Amino acid sequence: MRHPCMTCGACCAHYRVSMHWMETDAAGGVVPHALTEAFGPHQAVMRGTWEAQPRCIALDADIGRHSRCSIHPVRPQPCRDVQASWEHGAASPQCDKARSAHGLPVLTTADWARSISVVLVEAIDVPEPPPAAAPMAVASLQA
Ligand code: SF4
Ligand code: SF4
Repeated sequence: MRHPCMTCGACCAHYRVSMHWMETDAAGGVVPHALTEAFGPHQAVMRGTWEAQPRCIALDADIGRHSRCSIHPVRPQPCRDVQASWEHGAASPQCDKARSAHGLPVLTTADWARSISVVLVEAIDVPEPPPAAAPMAVASLQA
C-alpha cells in the first residue's frame, strides 16, 4: 500500500477550498488564478469546490482508487493544512469526515504501518550492480 492519499482524494471532493485572494498568482501568490473564482471581497475558491457536490477542478482522481493533485506544488494553504488521519500520530476529523462521505473506511495506524513496509520493500528491492571487471582484464592493464 502506498501513501493513503494516493488512493483516496476524498477531501478534494468534499470541502469548499477557500483562500485569501493574495494566494493566487494574479496577486503575487502561486495558486493558478484561472483555477479559482471570486468568493466574497477578499477570498477565492478553487473552482468546483463550491458546488452542491464539490470536486476540485485540479483533482485528477478516481476517488478511493487513485488520486493526484495536478497543482500539488502550488496548491492553496488549506490543502496543505489538511492532515491524513494518523500520519502524524492523531486522528484528523477532516480526513475521517471526507472519507466516510465517500464510503471509504477511516484510516487507522495499521494503514501507515503497511505504507511504511511497502517503502522499505521498494528500497530493498534494487537491481544488483553490474559485476566487477574480470581479474584477467585488470592484470593485462597492469602489465
Ligand atoms: S481524505 Fe484523508 S486520506 Fe483522503 S486524500 Fe484527504 S487527507 Fe488523504
Ligand atoms: S488544489 Fe489539489 S489538494 Fe487542493 S482541493 Fe484541489 S486537488 Fe485537492
